Amino acid sequence: MARANALYYATHDPFGDFTTAPEISQAFGEVLGAWAAVVWQGMGAPERVTLAELGPGRGTLMADALRAIAAALPGFRAALSVHLVETSPGLRAVQRERVPDATWHDSAATLPDGPLIVLANEFLDALPIRQFVRRGAGWTERFVAGDRFVEHPADPPERDAEDGAVVEVNEAALALVTALARRRQVAALFIDYGPAESAPGDSLQAIRGGTPADPLAEPGSADLTAHVDFAALAGAARRAGAAVYGPTPQGPFLARVGLHARVGRLSRAAPPETARRLLQGLHRLTDPHAMGRLFKALSVCDPELPPPPGFDDA
Ligand code: SAH
Repeated sequence: MARANALYYATHDPFGDFTTAPEISQAFGEVLGAWAAVVWQGMGAPERVTLAELGPGRGTLMADALRAIAAALPGFRAALSVHLVETSPGLRAVQRERVPDATWHDSAATLPDGPLIVLANEFLDALPIRQFVRRGAGWTERFVAGDRFVEHPADPPERDAEDGAVVEVNEAALALVTALARRRQVAALFIDYGPAESAPGDSLQAIRGGTPADPLAEPGSADLTAHVDFAALAGAARRAGAAVYGPTPQGPFLARVGLHARVGRLSRAAPPETARRLLQGLHRLTDPHAMGRLFKALSVCDPELPPPPGFDDA
C-alpha cells in the first residue's frame, strides 16, 4: 500500500480521482486557520511557531488558512513559519505555487523543535495499513502476492475479533501520532474519515478515475485509502502523555469553529452563482448524509495547553 500510493501520488493528479474538503470550499481552510490562531493564542502567542500541514495536496487548505490568518491576526502571521510534509514531487511543485514561502519535509520527524501547530486533512487515510484475519483460534496476516491476497500465520493483533473478521492496524499513523503526542507546546488537528469506535472490517478502498476499483489491479494507478481508527490513535496519544479531544463528527466540529458564519459572510458579498456554490459546499461538508458524519476531527495537544476550539468534550 505504501509503495502503490507513493507511485500513485508521484504520477497522478489525485484531484482528478477524488475531491477533498479544502477543494470544496475556501471556508474550510479559512476556519482551520482561525482554529490555529486560537491555539497560538492559547500557547501564549509565542514569537516563533511552526505551522505545519501533513499531506497538503494542492496547497489549498494552507493558502486559505494563511489568507484568513493574515486578515484576522497579523501577529500570528508574522510569528509563524510554514512547513509542509509531502513526498510527491509533483504535488510539492503545485504547493510551491500556492504557498511559496514554505519549507518541505519528507516526514513529520524533521519538523522544527519548539511550538508546533499541525493540520492534516485526509492524510492518515493514505498511510499503509496491515490487515490481520482471525482464522479459528489463530490469526493470519494478508499480504499481496502478484494480483491477489495471500494469508500467512501471524501473531494476534492487539484487538480481538470474531472468526473470519479483519482487524486493520495503521502502524505509520500510530507512530506519527505518538511522536507528536510526546512533544511539548504542540497542538495537532487530524480530519479524516472512519468510525468513532474501533470496528473490525476490511476498509481498504481504491478509487481510480472517480470510481471504486480493484485495489490490486495496476498498482500505482488508483488512490488507496483505509478508514482511520480514531480510537486506536486517541489511545496511543493518551499513553504518550497528550490530551486528546474528539473524535467528533466533522459537521458539528465545523459548526463550532464558525464555518456557517464564515460562509454566510462570504455568500452575502458574492454574486448569486458564487453564493449558491458556497452554500452547496457548506451542505456537503456538514450534512450527516454527505461528509458531516463519516468524517471526524481529532485533536492531540500538550495537556498544559487550553482545550482547542471545536470539541464538545473540551
Ligand atoms: N490534504 C489534502 C490532500 C489529501 S490527499 C486535501 O485535503 O486536499 C493526501 C496527501 O498526502 C497528498 O498530498 C499526498 O501526496 C500526501 N501523502 C500521501 N502519503 C504520504 C506520505 N507517506 N508522506 C507524506 N505525504 C504523503
